[in-house]
Amino acid sequence: MVHITGATKLLGVMGYPIEHSLSPVMHNAALHALAAQTNTLEYVYIPWSVPLDALPAVVSSLGALGCCGFNVTIPHKQTIMPLLASTTVIAKAVGAVNTVWPTDAGWAGTNTDVQGFLAPLQNLDLDWSTLTPCILGCGGAARAVLAGCAQLGCPQVHLVGRQADKLQQIQATSTLSLDIQVHLWPELASILPQASLLVNTTPIGMAPHPPTSPLSAVEMDQLPLEAIVYDLIYNPNPTLLLEQAKASGRRAITGVEMLVQQGAAALSLWIDQPAPVDVMRQALLAYFR
Ligand code: NAP
Repeated sequence: MVHITGATKLLGVMGYPIEHSLSPVMHNAALHALAAQTNTLEYVYIPWSVPLDALPAVVSSLGALGCCGFNVTIPHKQTIMPLLASTTVIAKAVGAVNTVWPTDAGWAGTNTDVQGFLAPLQNLDLDWSTLTPCILGCGGAARAVLAGCAQLGCPQVHLVGRQADKLQQIQATSTLSLDIQVHLWPELASILPQASLLVNTTPIGMAPHPPTSPLSAVEMDQLPLEAIVYDLIYNPNPTLLLEQAKASGRRAITGVEMLVQQGAAALSLWIDQPAPVDVMRQALLAYFR
């Protein structure tokens, strides 16, 4: 057994609420796996419930405590940005930060959701410059997916939402080298036949609600057979959308992989060594079982 000692350092995640977060499960599994090699638990990863009005005081206190880094989740991903000394190009492009670490000048922030989203796609041998993704939903995760599509080299994406003003704002303020075509849901049927990658960034189909899918069976049939269906939802695993995709012979990617890979990118940044990705993945899958 490895112990928390006087030398154990602090990592964590802040959100409000935070009880649902799975980050402590995968990060502490990784930190214990690394500790087993040296018999020393060098870091612990703690969840912090932080209401909006407490954010500045908490961030400053973590600096005073010598915290080695933390994740940021809803509702702080945007509001933390003015409290940081610097943010990366990718965090600015997404307009949100999910990973923070200390520097001599103060806290620095980046967004590893983009890296997490991209990880399962980069293994595929595809010419992204000829492919057009369709993104369902236009919230925080959709912004990371848009930045990911730009990094892949897609020239154009279709973004589907239920609020015209929100869609237009994303389109008008985007700094990405990507042609963002925006659509309301009733236009979905006309876009699906052109979509080579369908990404669900809405919570439709997420536990604890009964299984639902953003696509009807008829809509799934409108997607090209070679299309990839990627659901950002990680619970349940797989979602009904992914079951529909697999049953119809389409390639399906689960949100578990994005969750694991964004976490691994954050952890390796904090501890300055490769994160044990497989340990993190197995910890999450075991937790779901
Ligand atoms: P968010 O900012 O609240 O955005 C959710 C989007 O879905 C919004 O555009 C919202 O529409 C839309 N939406 C919600 N309910 C809808 C419905 N019934 N019909 C149509 N559209 C609906 O949330 P988020 O942070 O982007 O997260 C979205 C999902 O991604 C969550 O399930 C989250 O767990 C998942 N996620 C997964 C990972 C991962 O690592 N796997 C990372 C980030 C997020 P309005 O714009 O009209 O409100």
